[in-house]
Parts: sequence; structure tokens; C-alpha cells
Amino acid sequence: MGEVSENVGIFGGAFDPPHNGHLALARDAIDHFRLSRLLVRVVVDPGHKDVETAPEARLALAELAFATLDEAAVSLDPFGRTVDSLEALGLDDPLFLLGADELAAFPTWTRPDRVLELARIGAATRPGSDLQDLDRVVRSLVLPERVELFPITPLAVSSSEIRERVYSGLPIDDLVPAAVAREIDRLGLYRTR
Ligand code: ATP
Repeated sequence: MGEVSENVGIFGGAFDPPHNGHLALARDAIDHFRLSRLLVRVVVDPGHKDVETAPEARLALAELAFATLDEAAVSLDPFGRTVDSLEALGLDDPLFLLGADELAAFPTWTRPDRVLELARIGAATRPGSDLQDLDRVVRSLVLPERVELFPITPLAVSSSEIRERVYSGLPIDDLVPAAVAREIDRLGLYRTR
């Protein structure tokens, strides 16, 4: 009997902190692409943004956030560039997930053509997404057929909004899983800038 090939997804981010929008994307992607496994990669030092929260704290939060998804396995990603991370993982044609806002910036990533050789891309769109613009981005790539857009349940939440709310003393209970809110409080994260 031949081996049953695995359909592995990869979802990378700063996760500073992880929130319900990340979880919704992960859940919808598992359903849409019938993923057997989802590697959630907490990027230690993202190439494109400043992250102040220690990677170990972000890892702990992501483990709590994704604990309800059986397919998800959370780990630290020591690579700042997706291309290096994919080369190191050496998976057989995985699916790299991102939000449509990130896809717009994809051509500016390090070696986007190589990224598309190493992985397919699943880009989550929301009702607000400019599909014409995304289509233009996809068609400008060397391997446009390697990108698939998929719709997700829209959740207007971002990590920056959560950090801002904690700093201002506002509740975040509707925006992150309960265990994440408790851990943010326990660790005293985001109270100062
Ligand atoms: P920040 O507000 O600090 O920029 P963020 O909320 O965008 O952070 P990241 O960890 O940078 O979080 O995002 C990881 C991935 O999750 C990216 O591909 C991003 O497009 C996607 N993402 C972020 N927020 C949402 C959301 N509300 N719904 C769906 N996808 C999201």
C-alpha cells in the first residue's frame, strides 16, 4: 500500500499576542484545505516588525490559544525569513497560510519565487479584501497557480489592538481565548509601553 500523503499547513506569525482572528483563520484553513496537521510557528525575531515580548512568552500564549485545535502543533521558528524557515523544515509541498493583507506584501519578501517552490500559499480573504488588487499581486508572481485565496469568517481584531487595550486597562475577553487573557494578566504583559 502506498503512503498516504499528509496535507500539512504552516501558520507563522509574531503572535504578540495570539487572538481569535488567528484562531478563526487556522480553523477555517483546516476545514477548507482538509489539513491533517497545522504547524503554528511563533517567529522569534520577525524580519519585518519590532516585537518586544520574549519569544518564550509568545510561545506559551500560542500554546494556550491553539490548544483547542487537535491538528495544531506550536513551536518557535528561529528564522526571520519564511524562505529560510521552509528550507529548514523540508516538508513535502506544505501549505503556507497568511492573511490577505500579508499577501499584498508578498512580492517584497525575501525570494518569493523560492517560497512558492517550497510551499503553496493559502491566503485568507475577508469581505473587506480588495480582490482585484490581490488578483493583480498573484498574477505578477512567477508561480501564480501556487496561490489559493480562501474566504474566512471576518473578525476585526489585531494583536496591536489587544496590546493597546491592555495598556489602557480595557478588557480583552471577547478578543482572545480565556486562557490567553488569564496568562497575559498573570505575566503582566502589555501594561507598559
Ligand atoms: P499586529 O497587530 O501586531 O500587526 P497581527 O494581529 O497582524 O499583529 P501577526 O502575528 O502579525 O498578528 O499575524 C500572523 C498572521 O495572522 C498574518 O498572516 C496575518 O495576516 C494574520 N491575521 C492577523 N489578524 C487576523 C485576523 N483578524 N483575521 C485573520 N487573519 C489575521
